Amino acid sequence: MTTISREADWAEAPSLIEGASRLELSARDCDLDYWFDNVPRGTLSGLVHGHSADARIPEYMLRPGPLRDAIINEFAFRSIAEEKATRAITYIVASAPDIYTMEFFATQLIDEARHSRVFRGHLLELGIKEADLFDTIERISGDDSRAILVPLEDFALPMIRDQRDFIAGVVILTILVEGVLAPAAELSERKWRHLDPAAAGIERGANIDEIRHLTVGSDVVRRYLVDHPGEKQRVLDLITRGRALWAQLPTTDVIVKRELYFQEGLEQQADLVRDYLVWPGKRLIDTTPEERLMAANTWSNEMQNSRLQYMGLAEAIP
Ligand code: FE
Ligand code: FE
Repeated sequence: MTTISREADWAEAPSLIEGASRLELSARDCDLDYWFDNVPRGTLSGLVHGHSADARIPEYMLRPGPLRDAIINEFAFRSIAEEKATRAITYIVASAPDIYTMEFFATQLIDEARHSRVFRGHLLELGIKEADLFDTIERISGDDSRAILVPLEDFALPMIRDQRDFIAGVVILTILVEGVLAPAAELSERKWRHLDPAAAGIERGANIDEIRHLTVGSDVVRRYLVDHPGEKQRVLDLITRGRALWAQLPTTDVIVKRELYFQEGLEQQADLVRDYLVWPGKRLIDTTPEERLMAANTWSNEMQNSRLQYMGLAEAIP
């Protein structure tokens, strides 16, 4: 029996933000053998539908109400985003310059396909009928996907698919997409821990994978810039263009919508989370949607800054 690396161990792994800010892992460290030992036989062993077998779904999640609306909104959108990520990563695998990065991104491709599946799976666990699943996802998140995810695809695919620009793909994935979204995923895991333990478990599993995606992706960019110093300006320009795109997208509207549902539900179930600290010194029940969004933003900036420094892209720190 192999031992599981700490960063992939369900009980031992650090939080996403902590792990993605501090750990160092390379594509060579996280090859296909590492993945089989640490993910299917590690993080995921014993999980059912992406969470531990004993994680409950509270009864109030199974009938109409704001917490149910909040999670359906969040997970419908996430299931589309993860599907789109999976499809986009195929081009990164195809243009990977060596076997190490090819194997690593092939594992990330399966991770993202799994995330899409377990987010959808939770909608089934909440009682949405399988025959209605894709119509429900479209009804709830189709417009949001067209407003946010499609413009991101339109930005990325000409580079990664048509020009086979490997490093552009890794920069977009690691810095502009996962780096931006990771803090929201961390917040989600914390918010749902006691209100929908199964959902929080699904997030936990995805977030453990995300530690690896962010650390290895950063290392790939760092090594590329060491080997190709003349490419640095092009990478910085890509980051600037990507951030300008994000600034135009209605991301806040989409997140605020689900936070408002969450807030209403939180107040209804306040007894369940009386003493629960969502972050050190702050009880979940004392937070507002604005405060939660601000906290995620702060984590996002801190994490991004430490990663950009590591990649040799300090010039991109605002
Ligand atoms: Fe993912
Ligand atoms: Fe990921």
